Amino acid sequence: MPAAVVFVNSAEEVSEVLRFCNAKGVYVVPRTGHSATEGGLETILDGTIVLDGSHMNKILNIDEVNMQATAECGVVLEDLENAVRKYGLTTGHSPQSKPIAMMGGLVATRSIGQFSTLYGGIEDMLAGVETVFPDGQICDIKAVPRRSAGPDIRHIVLGNEGTTNFITRVTVKLWKYYPEYQEVLGFTLDKMQDGMKIMREIMVAGYRPSVARLYDAEDGKEHFSHFAPGKCVMVFVTEGPQLVSHANAEGIRAIMAKHSECTPVETKLIENWFANLNWDAARIEEERKEVLETNNVCCTTEISAPWSAVEQIYNVCKKRVVEEIPDITIFGAHGSHCYSNGMNLYFVYWYNVVDCTPEEEINKYHLPIKKIICEETIKAGGSMCHHHGVGKHRIHWIDQEHGSALPMLKKIKAAFDPNGIMNPGDILPYYIEKK
Ligand SMILES: Cc1cc2nc3c(=O)[nH]c(=O)nc-3n(C[C@H](O)[C@H](O)[C@H](O)COP(=O)(O)OP(=O)(O)OC[C@H]3O[C@@H](n4cnc5c(N)ncnc54)[C@H](O)[C@@H]3O)c2cc1C
Repeated sequence: MPAAVVFVNSAEEVSEVLRFCNAKGVYVVPRTGHSATEGGLETILDGTIVLDGSHMNKILNIDEVNMQATAECGVVLEDLENAVRKYGLTTGHSPQSKPIAMMGGLVATRSIGQFSTLYGGIEDMLAGVETVFPDGQICDIKAVPRRSAGPDIRHIVLGNEGTTNFITRVTVKLWKYYPEYQEVLGFTLDKMQDGMKIMREIMVAGYRPSVARLYDAEDGKEHFSHFAPGKCVMVFVTEGPQLVSHANAEGIRAIMAKHSECTPVETKLIENWFANLNWDAARIEEERKEVLETNNVCCTTEISAPWSAVEQIYNVCKKRVVEEIPDITIFGAHGSHCYSNGMNLYFVYWYNVVDCTPEEEINKYHLPIKKIICEETIKAGGSMCHHHGVGKHRIHWIDQEHGSALPMLKKIKAAFDPNGIMNPGDILPYYIEKK
């Protein structure tokens, strides 16, 4: 349990609290939307406070000329998106947690949304940011289109997971929103491995759908069993000005038409599914109840891999988890973010919790499954974290993840949080920080 939850209302208050904690050796876990999935909000040491920025929830500026919006860290992304839509604009950011996640946490975790293949991840959207360091220093990184004034210091802030600084204000880019020109395409096929090859073909050809997703049959059960039982499913959305959106859709259709193993799906079915994909607090509560009633738990682990390794990672993880872990009821995966040089895989697994307490559950199921996925991914040349961050659940493999670059991470931590008060045990294991 944290010693206290401290709500803050301004960068100055954050500065005051952090300066106090830094001087007194009080540990701090920053928080905004509390949708972290990898244990980022867990307090592992006694005497830790949670520093909560969710009351800092003002949208400060929507700048239609410079196409950027500025919001405090506690603004819910969906609120910002709804506000900019009134101007016919979009942030382009749409993680499944959009109704709950807040701007500070979204930047702190290097989040990514469902339209990433066109708009990128939060690192491509973040123009400027204000943040506070443990010594109380408030730093405002100005929003400009681009600059070459030394290393890009936004990246000290992006993905820091509250381990070196507390984000108080965020400026993100905006784009014109053209819902009327969106085209949605869906296809079924038998083999996930074939889908990966086709996805590569489309990305390498240079098409830029906003959504490019590929589900295997196991994972697809939860989403598409009413129209594609036992099948893998590929989904594309194209958007932007009419000519651009249509050209992308036509290009993808032409490639798909060459593949006789793929069958088009009625667009309406895909649109209906996509409209209900996001999770809000009520849906999370519903799932909690279901888990308690059934003892059937769902967890996920998302990785990224170059095209040459993704198939191998998928095959090996699927084989090993099903063979080595007891009580698995579903082990599937989908790819939801594609690049010219590779894609992510989002493993989704369900298991029955048999003969163990909630504490034992982590060691019997959750960690051994993660271990297989993380180790196999790193071994094959991928990254064990595509977008949920390291948190405290993937800390065990952080040295393998970074290899010879790990000292850089340690130096950043030591430079910006020399007393080790910020989110201990996150990104770097606690024992490493203390060395
Ligand atoms: C149902 C569901 C769906 C999800 N879908 C996606 C998805 O599609 N894409 C995606 O990227 N993620 C997704 N996530 C993960 C999660 O929503 C993201 O990681 C999100 O960015 C976390 O934002 P938050 O405001 O909830 O942060 P929190 O959960 O409050 O915190 C997350 C981490 O950031 C740190 N932090 C929080 N606020 C600050 C701050 N102001 N300054 C510094 N550090 C801070 C915390 O210490 C913690 O380590 C999903 C989660 C859920 C539960």
